[in-house]
Amino acid sequence: MSWRKNFLKSLEGEGGFVEDGQQWPFRRVLESAQEFAESLGTRGVDAGDTVGVRLESPIANVIALVGNYLRGCVHVPINTRYTQREVDHIVEEAELKCIVGDEFTLFSDSPASPYRGDDEDIAIILFTSGTTGRPKAVELSYRAVLSNIDALTKLWRWTPADTLVLSLPLFHVHGLGIGVHGTILRGCWAQLRGAFEAEDVVSAFEGENGRAGSIFMGVPTMYSRLITHLESKPEACKALSRGRLFTSGSAPLSTSDFDAFRRLTGHTILERYGMSETMLTLSNLYEDRRRGMVGQPVGDTEIRVVDELGQDISDGIGELWVRGSSLMSGYRGRPEETKASFENGWFKTGDMVEILDGFVSIVGRRSTDIIKSGGFKIGAREIEEVIREHEWIADVAVFGASDTDLGERVVAALVLSGEHGHLESEVLKSGLDTWCREHLTGYKIPRDLLVVDALPRNPMGKVQKPRLKEIYESTRT
Ligand code: ATP
Ligand code: MG
Repeated sequence: MSWRKNFLKSLEGEGGFVEDGQQWPFRRVLESAQEFAESLGTRGVDAGDTVGVRLESPIANVIALVGNYLRGCVHVPINTRYTQREVDHIVEEAELKCIVGDEFTLFSDSPASPYRGDDEDIAIILFTSGTTGRPKAVELSYRAVLSNIDALTKLWRWTPADTLVLSLPLFHVHGLGIGVHGTILRGCWAQLRGAFEAEDVVSAFEGENGRAGSIFMGVPTMYSRLITHLESKPEACKALSRGRLFTSGSAPLSTSDFDAFRRLTGHTILERYGMSETMLTLSNLYEDRRRGMVGQPVGDTEIRVVDELGQDISDGIGELWVRGSSLMSGYRGRPEETKASFENGWFKTGDMVEILDGFVSIVGRRSTDIIKSGGFKIGAREIEEVIREHEWIADVAVFGASDTDLGERVVAALVLSGEHGHLESEVLKSGLDTWCREHLTGYKIPRDLLVVDALPRNPMGKVQKPRLKEIYESTRT
């Protein structure tokens, strides 16, 4: 069976999208996509060419995606809020042939991807979120994307009766990779809501346009904002409680939000893990969703947990390596970096994990969340969870800063909650110190605090720790 043909065939069946109250049954999407594909042809864009898509409207993005697939072009979604400098990076890294935006721009001698018309062709290039550096151009084949989404949507029991409420951006693996492809492959409906607003998500579940939402996929910052909105609004809680499935990913979901959401809506959030390079490789089970865990391998994914020498470890914390059909073909035009990210066919995720009772728990990123201090290896996330529980704290991120004595020192960046915004720094320091000592061993206690108005986050709500470290170091010189 061809994944690609199967996917395009789904568009001849039932299902569709709703945007701004307008219905877009799949057949209508397909017609518009055929026009899109034809117009690429008349502008000299051929199979294998990379097409940048910089369009605001979500349905226009869906049409462009399908249009590119019909023509055999590689779909490269671009965040419309990107500055010229950021767009230039994408043009260069993805070797774009053209950009479809408010205007159509054709570039000259961009190399095409090999085109064979089969499942190994590159379907999309997705850029990583740029949490730890500049975004990387990840090439994903039809097989990687569609085999993964097939397994995942079956695991989550998507059926044609479902309506997905989609408020995620469509330039990232989460919204585009899973949301749009899942809707089409399973023949269900999706409400395309545009930018996330808590109130808007609630109205989508109240059945605006006659199709009440049943599934919501969010990043953790969306859940925190939903929780704030839902407190003291029983009607809104009721609307969400009528949903079927709520999933979270892209960044760690705090255990306090996991609990609060369950208290407010009765739903246990299903957390899952993935990355642009691997698609969605770990997910909790539909019938078994554990707090603070990202679950078990999806589809044919195999995993290993290894130490610094690449040796398998049977317990304790190690780096996660993954293998399976959903891995990327490579970083565009960067064979050396691609090679360095694999070992014998295993992709080295750079994420540190621990397996507890058969379920994977993400400890953090090796590069930014593991702090090496005074001979200890300290996971930032555990400290963040403790500090977040304190009533003075609205948001927190823990990172390591260089320290001549300890190697690295534990620093906590804090956003204070409204009424505690004006605490004396000495009061704050001693109050938090006492709290942390109650819950954590001595070497994990932050040595220093950095109070900020808001944590620097990227569009997926991920905290940019290298940026925090820069801010911290600049305040010390
Ligand atoms: P860059 O690679 O450019 O630094 P990025 O790694 O954030 O950015 P993505 O590919 O969008 O780019 O995100 C993948 C990363 O997101 C994973 O490596 C992991 O660190 C994090 N992640 C995804 N899901 C979860 C989760 N459920 N819990 C914790 N972390 C998660
Ligand atoms: Mg990454």
